[in-house]
Amino acid sequence: MKSKSTSTNELPTIPDCDSCGICCLHMGYPSYVTTSASSTNQTAPLQDEQSWANMPDSLKQELLLYIENYQPPANGELDGPCVWYDAARRCCKHHEHRPQVCRDFSVGGKGCLEWRNHYRRHHPSYLT
Ligand code: SF4
Ligand code: SF4
Repeated sequence: MKSKSTSTNELPTIPDCDSCGICCLHMGYPSYVTTSASSTNQTAPLQDEQSWANMPDSLKQELLLYIENYQPPANGELDGPCVWYDAARRCCKHHEHRPQVCRDFSVGGKGCLEWRNHYRRHHPSYLT
């Protein structure tokens, strides 16, 4: 998951992810496939991930197809929202199946605070 290189001074802290979802807004898709594999259009899910192993086959196939056809943004732009992001509820549609990188991205952690600070500065309407 990419993070913004901004100062963490005077950052807002929140107790949970309710009504946030900012760290899902530039993921493109759940990170089950390595960058090098996706750039060569060869799907290579991380089979050792328990959450991948537990995912229903239909959801795996749907995700692999999405990744296969995924067009990364041009000119080094950030990815758009994760395909599993529920914009209306600002949360993950398949929270129980999210990859390890999403589980490890802790609320109140450095990356979380940097992203929230970036949005507070550049997209304040998102946080209101
Ligand atoms: S981890 Fe942080 S940035 Fe991500 S949804 Fe939760 S509060 Fe928002
Ligand atoms: S898999 Fe879920 S938690 Fe992870 S980036 Fe996508 S929407 Fe967010």
